[in-house]
Formats: sequence, structure tokens, C-alpha cells
Amino acid sequence: MLALFRTVILLVVIAVALPAQAKDYLVANQAEYIEVSQSLNPGDNIILADGVWQDFEIMLRAEGTEKQPIMLRPQTKGKVILSGQSNLRIAGQYIIVTGLIFRDGYSPTGEVLSFRRTKDDLAHNSRMTEIVIDHFSKPDRFDNDYWVGIYGQNNRFDHNNLVGKTNKGVTLAVRLNSVDSRENNHRIDHNYFGPRPALGSNGGETLRIGTSKFAQYNSNTIVENNYFDRCDGEVEIISSKSGGNILRGNVFFESSGTLTLRHGDNNLVERNIFLGNGKDHTGGIRVINKGQTVRHNYMEGLRGSGFASALTVMNGVPNSPVNRYVQVSDAQIIGNSVYDSDFITLAGGADAERSAPPIDSVMSGNLITGGDAGPIFRIQDDISGIKFSGNARIGAAHANHPEGIATIKATLVRAKNGLLYPRKAKFSKYGVPRDLSPVTKEEVGASWYPKPVKVNKFAGGADIAITPSEGVIENTIANATAGDIIVLGDGEYSVSKTISINKPITLKGSGQTKIVFDRPSLFEIAEGGSLRLENLTIDGEQAPDSVGNALIRTTSYPLQSNFLIEMERVQISNLSVNKYFDVIKLGKSTFADHVIIKDSQFKDISGSIILAASETEDYGQYNVEYADIQGSSFENIGGPIVNLYRGGRDESTFGPHFDLKNSKLANVGLDKNNDSKSAIVLHGAQYSKILDNQFIASAPILVNHTVGRPQTRITGNKFTATPKINIVELNYEGEQRVILSDNVYEEGENK
Ligand code: CA
Repeated sequence: MLALFRTVILLVVIAVALPAQAKDYLVANQAEYIEVSQSLNPGDNIILADGVWQDFEIMLRAEGTEKQPIMLRPQTKGKVILSGQSNLRIAGQYIIVTGLIFRDGYSPTGEVLSFRRTKDDLAHNSRMTEIVIDHFSKPDRFDNDYWVGIYGQNNRFDHNNLVGKTNKGVTLAVRLNSVDSRENNHRIDHNYFGPRPALGSNGGETLRIGTSKFAQYNSNTIVENNYFDRCDGEVEIISSKSGGNILRGNVFFESSGTLTLRHGDNNLVERNIFLGNGKDHTGGIRVINKGQTVRHNYMEGLRGSGFASALTVMNGVPNSPVNRYVQVSDAQIIGNSVYDSDFITLAGGADAERSAPPIDSVMSGNLITGGDAGPIFRIQDDISGIKFSGNARIGAAHANHPEGIATIKATLVRAKNGLLYPRKAKFSKYGVPRDLSPVTKEEVGASWYPKPVKVNKFAGGADIAITPSEGVIENTIANATAGDIIVLGDGEYSVSKTISINKPITLKGSGQTKIVFDRPSLFEIAEGGSLRLENLTIDGEQAPDSVGNALIRTTSYPLQSNFLIEMERVQISNLSVNKYFDVIKLGKSTFADHVIIKDSQFKDISGSIILAASETEDYGQYNVEYADIQGSSFENIGGPIVNLYRGGRDESTFGPHFDLKNSKLANVGLDKNNDSKSAIVLHGAQYSKILDNQFIASAPILVNHTVGRPQTRITGNKFTATPKINIVELNYEGEQRVILSDNVYEEGENK
């Protein structure tokens, strides 16, 4: 302590003696940092010593100058890690922070990085660059924060990596909540927005500029040359809620969602690249409000529909309040290329409230593919207010393509920049210009920090062979590493503990492998866990009678990370010791990216096979994105085989999705304890397909439609001694929104 005191004195003396002399201060602990940070002069650098800084809430309030900014940096890039309960706030002028890593923890406040100290003390002319935030999410997925809050004016946020946000709240928010934060001229560029998994709720936007409350103000923020890699948090990847923004040259790679001009006028969206690669819900640009220009954007392989179409021009609300939908006027949609994408939606979202179609708008010089490559136009109201001229289509028109799109005979060739262009120069007046230069993953973010690659969670590990002996499954899983496949030889395995699954693990049987267990649950999904079962028989005959039995359950506390559950060629029976013995039970604040069941048999089970109905507060939250069953049979099941609940009325999520194909249900859902009196309960599912199944002497299917535009298709099923499907529209007047076809009902013998 004395040494530190002496150092500080010495530094002060130097500072007084040589006021113009910039100093480097290497600090090794928080006390030293605090001492030094209180007397900084223009040009000074604070250098954090290499190592892990635990629970460090960094506050840097300083006044640099344009020529002599004050810098906070690591001793070595990549070697200073802020972990635990850490964050960073800056306020003042001309501050640069660079090279820090936030990992293994989360912010104790509402932000990880903040361009303000307090509500009234903001940062101006400052920069954060090459900062990494890697999975620094609050443990409870519904505990809200921003990773980055930008306030003040003339700030730059560039070359940062923001990867793996799993809790609610915008990844990066530009705030306009004070006069000093408007017309801000911030620049957000060359950042790597890494994978953001589906949140299963509103609040999973990657970038938001403004809010509806301040939508009438100009933000004048530039968002350019950023890379959005698999940003799947919710329907909006970027939500621009202010005026005068420029969104330019960004790449959206396999990201489910859209760039949405949600509120505010006179924004420019140009030269962005949307590459869907055929992934679900990959979208482009959605236009609302006045004076928006959307030009020279490239869309390829997009599979979004409705509000997530490659291009969506919305209908507005007449005299709309600012938080609803302002009518589109003076939109200029020019020179965009839309290839191999499913939909363009015009006058989108038209309904009794949104009854004002787009006016005084232009679509010209756009180039689309035709025929099977799409897009199909969905036109939901009068589009005479959009003038079409000089647009072209390669290949056949669809019935509903508007006038003003000429068919041209062109061949698309992939150019050096990776994008498709017509081979012949005479067609260059259509679509995006030749000089687009999509920013690459390598050009964004901190070059010294690795970016995540796509992985199959259940691969990449070792095969570990075991044979029956006491505790062998428990011990092998405990010692396994992520991606391992445990190969179970013939015989009966008896498990006497609930096994915590805290990494991706596969259990693969021989076909002659049976597992019995004597706890209320066999597996518990913990943080980081995912489970795949293959070619196994599991018998619940030895399970005790206790409350809430479930073969696979989640931990009783929230899970930060999304997980997967898969079953293939699995036989499960005798889960019947009490009234509600479920196979898979997903608890509150837990979220599965998917639950897949394939070619499996379930027999004599008192509860549900997939119980995903823990989020009952109607906040628009739910437990599983894709529940997918095929080629399986269900016999003597007391509860509904699937109980899926997504309440609430917001339209921010794509899911949940449900698929049931080629499966057989016999005596399902008829137990007197099954309050739903149904064999399947889908409440608020957004995409449901029930195709080519057999229902024998079972309870009916119940589908409750809540919000959005639910896509429900029930076709090719045979119902024997099973009541009719029950579709309920809870918030929609008009005909039931469901495709029902080729379903056969027959009397048959009732049990
Ligand atoms: Ca939202």
C-alpha cells in the first residue's frame, strides 16, 4: 500500500512538473486503477496489467482532447479479461477504450459497456474499439440488460466482437433519451455481431437505434460494414426507431429476422447483403414511415415470409400514434437484387387497424428471379401508391407479380465479390451495382480474437464403449467431454442417481440395451447440457412415486444457454407410477432450440411426452423453438403427447414451431387427470404441421391461435373414434386460420 501511495505521489509530481507530457500508467489492481483514473490528463494512457480482473466495474471519467485522447488499454491485447460481475462506463470527451475481453460473468447493472457515467454525464467524441463481449449474459434469460448502450454524440463503436447474448435485451442500443444524445452522428462500424440464439420472447434484437418515444427525432447514426452472423434473437435484427440513420454495407449471414425501419423517417438503407442460405425466417428489409430509401441491397436464399420477407412494405394505421404503424409515403426502393428468396410483401399487415396503404412510393430498377426461385409477391391491400418502373425479372412471372416488371432472358453468374449478376452488361441497369464489396468476417471485430464456427453439438467427441455395471452410466457421463458418444453394450443398466447433463452427450445403445432408474428423474439438463438418446429402451418401472416425475427435466433454476434434446429409435415405457409422469419437462426460464423425436415408441405413460408449458404469464415467452416428431408411436398416454404454450400478444418471435408427421397415437389424452382433455395442445404456436398421422381412440387436437399470423396445417390424418380437431381463435375475428385437408374421420371401436 505504501508503495502504491508513493507511486501515485510521484506521478502527480510528474504531472505537475510536465503538464504536456502524456504518461502511461500500468495498473495491476482495482485500487491502483481508481487512484490513477482520478487525475488523468490529455494523452495519458491507463494500461491494465495482463490477467483476469475479477468483479471490476470500470469507470472512466476523463477529458481528453481531439489531438490527445485519453486511452484505456490492456498491457497485451487478448490477455486482459474482465470476468465475474464486471462492466465499463465512460463519460467525458475524447476517450478511447480498446482491447478488453468480457467473459465468464455478466454485468451487475443494466449494461456491460456504457457511453455514460450517469443519466446526465455522457461520453462525447469517444470510441470503443476491439472490445470482446463473449457470452457475458445474465444467468436468467429474462433478466434484462443491454450489452452496449451508446449515449452522447460523435461516438464510435468499431471492430468489436459481441457474441452469444442469451438473456433478454438489445445487444447494442443507441439511446436518444436526452437532447445531448440526439443528432448524434455516432458511427457503428466493422463490428462482429456473432451468433445470438433465439430468445423465445420479445427483446432479442441485435441492434436498436432509438425508441418509439423519441422516434420524431433524428439520430443520424451510421451503421456500416458490420457482419451479423446468425443473429436469431427475434424477428428484428436491427430495429431503427429514429430518423436520419444510414445503414450501409452490412452483411447479414444466415440471420433469422429483418432490418426493420420501425419508427422515424428519412433513413437510408443501402448496399447491404442478406445471405439466407435457405435457413428458416431469414429476411431482408421491412419499410414503415416516411421518406425511406432502400437501394442497392442484395438478397439471396431468404426464406422469411410475412413481416420477414426479403422486402416488406407495410400498411400503416391512419393518423397513427407514434408507437403503432405510420403509413409508408415517399419510399424509394431502387436497384435491389432479390434472388432465390420466397417472398416480397407489399401493403403488409393490412387489417382493420392497419388500413392505410403505401403512397407516393417508387419501386424501380430492381431485379428479381422468377419461376421456382421466387419471390412470390404477397399483396395485402391497394398498391396503386407504389409506382413500378424499370424492374426486371429473370424467368417466369407468378400470377400476382405487379405490372412494371419486365421479363428478361439473363443468366446469373457469380462475380469475384461472391454475388450474382446478369452475365450481359446490357442488364446492368437492373439490380445492385458491380462495385459492392461485402465486408468479410475477417475484416470485422478484433482480429486477435477467434470467431465462433458452426458446430454440431453432438459430434467431435470420442466414442466411449461401456458394458453394464453399477454406476457405469453416471460415472462415464461425469467424466465425458462435450460431444462424446457413449456406446452402451447389450444388457440392463440400472441408474441410481439423477444424472446431470452439463455438456452435449449422446447415449447410443445396441438395440439390446435397456436402462432402468430409481429416482424421479433419470436426466437433468443443466447449463451447457444437451442430450441425444439413440437406439435404447428405457423403462420407468422402478421409478419412485414423487411429485413432478420426468424422465428428462431441466434444472429448477433458469438456464442461460439454449439446449437440444434428441431421441431416435428409443422405446420408453412404464412411466406410470403417478398421475403426471412426463418424458421431457422443460422448466421456467429454460429454452430448447429443438426437441426432436424420430422413429421412437412410447407406451404406458401417465403424463406428456413433451411438456413445454412453463411460461404461463403471457409475456410472449415459451420453452422450445422447434418441437418435431416423426415416425413415432404413442400408446396409452394419459396427458397430451405435446403441450406447448406461448402466451402473450406481441409479434416478436418466429416460434414456437411444431411438426408431427407419420406417427400413430392410440388411447392418448384420455386420462381423467388430463385437464386439457386433448391429445395435443398447441397454444400460441406460430407454425404447426400435423401431417399423415393416425389417431385411434384418442382425445382431440386442441389448437389455440393467439397472435400474429399463425400458420397451421393439419392434413392427411386419419382419426378413428377420435373427436374433431378443435381450433380456437382467441384474438382474431374472422374465419379460422388453418389449412385442413384430406383428414378422414371414422367411427371405429371406442375403448
Ligand atoms: Ca422486438
